[in-house]
Amino acid sequence: MATSKYLIFGAGFYGENALIQYGSDNVDFFIDNDSKKIGTTYHGKEIVSPAKAAELCKDGNYTVIIASLYAESMAAQLEELGVKDYSFYLSPVHGMYETDELIVNPYLQQKEAKSEEEWSDSQKLEFSREEVNKAVERLYKNLPLFNHVEIETINRCNGICSFCPVNRNSDPREKAVMSEELFKDIIRQLEELQYSGRITTFSNNEPLLDDRIIDFNRYVREHLPKARIHMYTNGTLFTLDKFKTLVEVLDELIIDNYNQELQLITPVKEIVEYCETHPELELNKKVTIVLRKPQEILTSRGGDAPNRKDLREYPDDRCLLPFKQMIIRPTGQVSLCCNDALGKWTLGDLTKESITDVWYGTKFTKVREALYKGRKFCGNCKYCDTFTMG
Ligand code: SF4
Ligand code: SF4
Repeated sequence: MATSKYLIFGAGFYGENALIQYGSDNVDFFIDNDSKKIGTTYHGKEIVSPAKAAELCKDGNYTVIIASLYAESMAAQLEELGVKDYSFYLSPVHGMYETDELIVNPYLQQKEAKSEEEWSDSQKLEFSREEVNKAVERLYKNLPLFNHVEIETINRCNGICSFCPVNRNSDPREKAVMSEELFKDIIRQLEELQYSGRITTFSNNEPLLDDRIIDFNRYVREHLPKARIHMYTNGTLFTLDKFKTLVEVLDELIIDNYNQELQLITPVKEIVEYCETHPELELNKKVTIVLRKPQEILTSRGGDAPNRKDLREYPDDRCLLPFKQMIIRPTGQVSLCCNDALGKWTLGDLTKESITDVWYGTKFTKVREALYKGRKFCGNCKYCDTFTMG
């Protein structure tokens, strides 16, 4: 019998967006693993446990939509419960912010940690660790090409974020700017690979400090039509004209609006006004302005975050990022991951080696072997508390 209704697995940020996509009338329940949520309602729908969802699915009347970054283990969980009819809300190269909200306040969803201890103790971290370990298991056995490329064209930032190793008061890096020739050569290689993952022209820097950034993104768009182009910026250097030109080229623009009181900074105010007075352009679908605090406790970044001193060790955990990311510095050097902001761990050099030779090469392979066994086998990774799915 054809299914007629949906259950959404994940009563959170992505679940909310899935509800909009599938239509509230077509969704009967949310499913969640969080025992505190079960029995309560979310957007007017009861939240049920996975076991109860399996009961509901027995008659074949429901399809489960998995709407979470942890989709992989949720799918395994459904299979164990005998649920076969499920699909995924997020594609493997989903957007960074799957929301139509123009302005997002992340502190409404996730409480700010008041101390390093509180940060380390957070439940979210515990849950992510398990998910990462499972995902590495799969990718280690069958490594695909990277699906996330960051090309840092200039290694500078004008920001002062206390948690960031490259804030303008802490940055020890020698200034470097990528040559146009190297940039185009990297894109040519990706074009030959018919690259269709995520790509961005920034990494640990402020991309608008590079005057060529709009032209570079146009070049990417022209040569990599299947790729998903996004950009993060702190927005300080935007003029309205620059914003309008850039947003046309990108698939997604995230403006991290840094202000301790969560007020909009002047260039961003102008952008918000423009977006709001031009609803016909639907810029809210591409642009997300995230209200962020420049003074905040966040991840330790392998021990490099300037405001982290109390470093816990995660010796036996794995890490997913070197199984997914290709992080390229202005010199052509390839770094361990996006958290290796200072480029301490170089796994290749694109002025001498091809991008696939680096990805499948000895250094990357050794790093993955080490991280499969546990972070204690890979440099300073044991001090890193990043457990993202990438
Ligand atoms: S977090 Fe971003 S804006 Fe802040 S200092 Fe680092 S690179 Fe700059
Ligand atoms: S554990 Fe190592 S590879 Fe993973 S994010 Fe941290 S520093 Fe990067």
